[in-house]
Amino acid sequence: MSPASHPSIAPGSVIGVLGSGQLGRMIAQAAAQLGLKTHVFAPESGPAFDVASHRTRAPYEDEAALAAFADSVAVVTYEFENVPARAAAVLAQRRPVLPGPDALAITQDRLTEKTFLNKLGVPTAPFLAVDDAEGLARAVERLGRPSILKTRRLGYDGKGQAMIREGADLAEAFRSIGAAPAILEGFVPFVREVSVVAARAADGSYAAFDLCENEHENHILALTRAPARVAPETAAAATAMTRKIMEALKYVGVIAVEMFVVEEMADGARVERLVVNEIAPRVHNSGHWTLDGAVTSQFEQHVRAICGWPLGSTRRHGQVEMRNLIGEDVNRWRDLLGESGACVRLYGKHEARPGRKMGHVTRIIGP
Ligand code: AMP
Repeated sequence: MSPASHPSIAPGSVIGVLGSGQLGRMIAQAAAQLGLKTHVFAPESGPAFDVASHRTRAPYEDEAALAAFADSVAVVTYEFENVPARAAAVLAQRRPVLPGPDALAITQDRLTEKTFLNKLGVPTAPFLAVDDAEGLARAVERLGRPSILKTRRLGYDGKGQAMIREGADLAEAFRSIGAAPAILEGFVPFVREVSVVAARAADGSYAAFDLCENEHENHILALTRAPARVAPETAAAATAMTRKIMEALKYVGVIAVEMFVVEEMADGARVERLVVNEIAPRVHNSGHWTLDGAVTSQFEQHVRAICGWPLGSTRRHGQVEMRNLIGEDVNRWRDLLGESGACVRLYGKHEARPGRKMGHVTRIIGP
């Protein structure tokens, strides 16, 4: 069922959202601005529950709850890529699930994802599958050190990863990621990390926000700058690569494609090369700047795309910086609110635990 052929998606309709985090919250807020309602389904209550029109709290394995949820909405989307395949299938029998189950299946597993990208001609770090400590030793032989061991599934913000340096104990490294099926990646000596946040609609229309640049602290996104400080050809190549990925997946909705920029010398000139690290089949933290820094936010764009509505303008309001408020950072909310030009967004989480994303602040820092 394509959303374009689903006539009931009009203002006043209900969008189903799996997941109750801040991304779901901001999707629900954007939906409300367009006269839509949201029904959030999640096993735990969270920031999205506070702003949704309807909520279901149930495990993703509860098929009766999933069916009732699907019957109450016009289209289903999600704020995280680890939606269990069975839940996605149960929902897809009843309503369009967008982005589609293919996008989920491919991006849930780093091995499948990187294999898919390479088949498309999109460059990634060199990688090998690792199923046990002996396999890790063989992979390290081939890819050298440093290299990075990553679980195939369920890793995020640096969790489920181990750096393999000279002298590293390989058996211990494999244990440290839970002895789970993994990949070993060659280390990419990047100068910057960038991401493309883009949308595709069912009619094939495509709109990318300007390439942005990301800085991480302790594996967690700390700062996003838009536009990224790269050559115009590099930005254009990143956007074209993303479109190719979306076309191959017949993708509908917003995607984020994280890439490394590597600088190399070719014929005496400095050139930039792109290496794709990861695809997020959803709205993404590196697109939060669009809420206050672009004509259409990534959240509104996602809602437009999954409803089969025209995509909005991705024009930037200027040079933009978005900082995450992580853990105790959020205690500065009063000062930040007093700062002219600081656009403060708080997610309403009760406890400022270390490493927890509590809100973000966006500033337009130049024309
Ligand atoms: P990931 O969970 O794959 O997004 O990786 C988290 C972070 O680890 C990235 O944002 C990079 O800073 C770093 N990283 C991941 N893979 C590589 C790699 N192959 N080479 C160098 N750095 C990497």
